[in-house]
Amino acid sequence: MNRLASMKLGNAQRRSPELQLVLSNYSQYLLAHIAQSVACNAAHSIKQRTAKWVVEIIEQSGTEKLAITHEQLAAVLGIGRSYASRVIQGLKADGLLSTARSELRVQNLQALKLKSCHCNDWLQKALRRDISGCDAEGGVGVQLKDAAAEAAAQSSPPVDKDGTERRALRADQH
Ligand SMILES: [Zn+2]
Repeated sequence: MNRLASMKLGNAQRRSPELQLVLSNYSQYLLAHIAQSVACNAAHSIKQRTAKWVVEIIEQSGTEKLAITHEQLAAVLGIGRSYASRVIQGLKADGLLSTARSELRVQNLQALKLKSCHCNDWLQKALRRDISGCDAEGGVGVQLKDAAAEAAAQSSPPVDKDGTERRALRADQH
């Protein structure tokens, strides 16, 4: 975010208690995400974390194919390439994944979820809890956008001084 955008956000935040609340809740969620990632790295096996990561990406992308090399996966997980390859071979041997050139393909998503640690489920619950009124479909981005739009509307009154245009706009909305 550049300085001007940051200043505008700061101004909007000062004018809008709703935006303040959304940003505060989002900060809480980010802290929970960081804490959960640290705990996950310490407590769960690399096989569980690999399964978790693949499930997350597959569910977000809506496809069963993931274009990634073993080297890239190793970088994402913070492990060596040969270790990542062994984990992938293990998941292949379990019938959960197959591989092609620079691609992972999920063979059994439900079984892969069972191999996964459930840190993402916990984070989804934290997201719903911390971002008040946030529905699963809209997500944080939608609520941030709505609050920012409301703050911008409050900071930009109509140009006419007697409020005629504002009343007209409101009437049009009904
Ligand atoms: Zn975990």
